[in-house]
Amino acid sequence: MMSAEEERMFDLDGWAHVSSGKVRDLYVPQDASAHGSGDVILVVATDRISAFDHVLPTRIPDKGKILAQLSLWWFEQLKDVVPNHLVSLDVPEPVRGRAMICRRLNMIHVECVARGYLAGSAMSEYRATGGICGITLPKGLREGDELPEPIFTPATKAEAGSHDENISFEELRTTVGAYAPQLRATTLKLYRRARRIASSRGLILADTKFEFGVVPESTSAHDIILADEVLTSDSSRYWDAADWEPGRPQYSFDKQFVRDWLLSPESGWNRLSDEPPPPLPDEIVEKTRARYLEAFRRLTGTEPEL
Ligand code: ATP
Ligand code: MG
Repeated sequence: MMSAEEERMFDLDGWAHVSSGKVRDLYVPQDASAHGSGDVILVVATDRISAFDHVLPTRIPDKGKILAQLSLWWFEQLKDVVPNHLVSLDVPEPVRGRAMICRRLNMIHVECVARGYLAGSAMSEYRATGGICGITLPKGLREGDELPEPIFTPATKAEAGSHDENISFEELRTTVGAYAPQLRATTLKLYRRARRIASSRGLILADTKFEFGVVPESTSAHDIILADEVLTSDSSRYWDAADWEPGRPQYSFDKQFVRDWLLSPESGWNRLSDEPPPPLPDEIVEKTRARYLEAFRRLTGTEPEL
């Protein structure tokens, strides 16, 4: 077996590894002039899975391919709303199907979250304050309820190991200046479009997160480009519309099995301890993989290439 560190990197001819997030690895060309004008990066989605801010020791087979191809499908659905960072799919063989060559951007370091339903950190903040990110919400909303209208709830991107923190629009303006209104308008436009599409497939897109960047020579706050991955089960909360029932937690199309198992006595893991999480049982791995596949099939109506 490879060590976790070795497993992080594919050996890719012509590309040098530059950094790794929790689930994706970034590479740059060894020969800077090899990919035409402008800097590019190779974004590789691995089969790593994270939960409760930990990367788990277990991989979910094909997860990276399923999510990378779902993200690609969404970029296509959304390309008339805002330009995105995709340059080409002509990637090295070992990462085909799980990687894309993208324009290397100066990232705007904020998570642009849109919510149409009350769940997750929004639910906790609403219980405590009656609103979220400085937006006051009607009284009496239950977990899973639809909001009167979609809202923009930005969050700071946390350093490794800590949680993202919700911020108000005013705080966002202090952090990113003139980009703030553009980020809000574009995030809400993307969310509305995506949720209409999901809804036509019997899925509720409860909330989602986008990241944007700009090319280094950009001079206008209107030049934002959609980056990172979009509308995957890692960045979004999808619910089956047929099972939706406000007043209780909803069953989401992502790591539900993983989270539930980790919190169960069976895992022997204490979330609040410093211990790393234990390996997942095969059954949980298989169910989780099936869930990712189901979301892909329902949204796109096709099979991913695995
Ligand atoms: P996590 O999402 O797990 O909290 P992370 O965002 O640091 O952590 P990944 O999502 O695994 O890590 O890695 C993707 C990284 O690539 C992110 O830091 C993201 O901001 C960055 N990124 C995405 N698109 C681009 C781009 N076009 N140019 C430069 N950086 C990008
Ligand atoms: Mg990320």
